Formats: sequence, C-alpha cells, structure tokens
Amino acid sequence: MKEVYHGIYQLPIPLPNSPLGHINAYLIQSDNGYLLVDTGWDTDEAFSALKAQLAEIGARPEEISQIVITHIHPDHYGLAGRLKQLSRAEIALHQREKEHIRTRYINMDELLEQLARWLATNGVPADELPDLQIASTPVARFVVPTSPDVTLHGGETITAGVFNFEVLWTPGHSPGHIVLYDSNRKILISGDHVLPHITPNVALHPQSSRNPLNDYINSLNQIKQLEVELVLPGHEQPFNNLSERIDQIVSHHHERNSEILDILGNKTKTAYQLTTEIIWMPDTRASRWHDLAPLDRRLAILETISHLEFMRFEGRIDKLSRDGAIYYQLPDIGAKN
Ligand SMILES: [Zn+2]
Ligand SMILES: [Zn+2]
Repeated sequence: MKEVYHGIYQLPIPLPNSPLGHINAYLIQSDNGYLLVDTGWDTDEAFSALKAQLAEIGARPEEISQIVITHIHPDHYGLAGRLKQLSRAEIALHQREKEHIRTRYINMDELLEQLARWLATNGVPADELPDLQIASTPVARFVVPTSPDVTLHGGETITAGVFNFEVLWTPGHSPGHIVLYDSNRKILISGDHVLPHITPNVALHPQSSRNPLNDYINSLNQIKQLEVELVLPGHEQPFNNLSERIDQIVSHHHERNSEILDILGNKTKTAYQLTTEIIWMPDTRASRWHDLAPLDRRLAILETISHLEFMRFEGRIDKLSRDGAIYYQLPDIGAKN
C-alpha cells in the first residue's frame, strides 16, 4: 500500500504466475465509504492481499461503497463479485464491457467456438488450434461474474471525497475501456490504456470492433490533449510523462506496421504466417515461435490481425479469401495478378 497522492492509495494485488506481477487497485475515501478502482483476480491470495492493505489504512472490505472497473479483463474485474457480496458496493463499468460479461464468463462455449473458427480462418494450423483456443480459460476461472449497478457510457462524473473524476471512454485495449480524469488535480487513473513500460495488447477478435488499433490510437490522442501531472496505471508504477509515453506507444505501433509490410514483401500470407515471422520478444530473440506460451501466441496473432486490418482500412494492404482462409497482400501485387 502506498499513498500516491494525498487521499489516493495504490494497492498492488499480486497476479501469481503472470509476467505482469501485480495489478494496481486504487482506493479513495468518500463521505460514505470508499471508492475502489479495479480489483484483482478472484483468488484467496488476491483477496487477502487486498484485505491486508485496506487494514493498513484502517478500512475493511465491507466499507467499499463504490467499485469502478476500467475494463472486464480478469485481473481488473475478477474480484468485483466477491467484494459486492460482502459490501453491497455499487459496481460501475462501461456498456460495451457489460455486453461481453455473459459470453466471456458465464456461457463461454459460443465464444470459444467463434474464436477457434476465427483463428483457423486466419491460418492457424489444426494441430496448434486446440491449445490456442483454450489458452485463456484458466484465468477466466478467477472471475465471479457480476452485472454492473451503474452502466457507464463516458462523460459521467464519479465523486469521491475531494475528487471529481470524469469518465472517459478509451476503446482499443478493450471495447469498453474507461479511464478516470480529475481535471482540478490533473490526475489520470489509466487502467491498461497507458502503462509506463508495457505496451498494452490491442487484439482484433470476434468481440472487438472492426478496427481496434484505430480506436486505440484515437483514444490515446484524445487523452494526450488532457493536462495530466500524475498517471495512475493498472500495472507497474505511477508516472508523469503521459504525452511522451503516448508518443512512444503510437510510434511502436507504426513501427510494427512497417515490420509487417516488410515481412509481407511481395508475398500473399495469412495473419498466422506473418505472426510467426515477427520478433515478438526482442529480449528472447532466440526463442522460437513454439516456445511462446499458448496465450502469448494467441495474443500475438490477434494483435497482428489488428495491424493488418488497420492498414487495410488505410488502403495499404488488401485482403482476400481463398479456400476458406483469409490472406493479405500489398495492393500493387493484387493488380498484377
Ligand atoms: Zn487488460
Ligand atoms: Zn491488466
């Protein structure tokens, strides 16, 4: 537990076996209890860590009166249901996240089938498919699905103590991702939208929009306009160079676009073929594609598709269907055929 600004506590909640290490929940005292932003997974270890850190402040889980979820990924949303059972806290999250609670966490079969078809169409070989299809089901178990009491759309104000946070809809990493902005104090609670070192995954999959990378870059540019002195991210540590960090993330995505165009050259390739040729982890350059964990491979493929579709919308790449699979190529190649 760390007081990162007068009245705002950062509570790192452990994420065992995850390279992320922890997720940051933020706690703010209000007139009638506490506001908690994001929660951690629903595991006993996460719950104990939260409880112990609340105790350091003199608070109990029962006193949480409001929970705001930046997006419904398990590390941010998992524990919300258990906390609500204890405290009857009001849960707020964005409409576009609410729409996916059922298919992601209650009745997953349909989404898993859609995902398998999606991966197969994008070139994933049959022998690799089962592992990739079920790669996220273990963490989905760390979620007690719960419906929001308040459905957000962006533009609302959430008040806690002296803080007035404006809800800003920042789609990209997740379709209904939100951030909270206090303009008086120039504080941004950024969820996974902007992190100080990690580049958040932007994936194109059956539940995303048709061009999530474009959504993401637009919502980065939108928050770049804000006056921000302190960013409180969902992972890693608070930081203050928001504008510089946004520039780095945007140029990373442009570099990845160029890399994909280079790999494509004058060939016609599936998203899967391209993904296996991209260097995903420069630190472990020696590691082969099949050495990556199934979830990392799946995220990599879906991220490549988001880049391909981004460039297709810009007219820099063509898409074609052949024998039930989707291929990409440069537009001038198509003209020659
Ligand atoms: Zn996330
Ligand atoms: Zn996260």
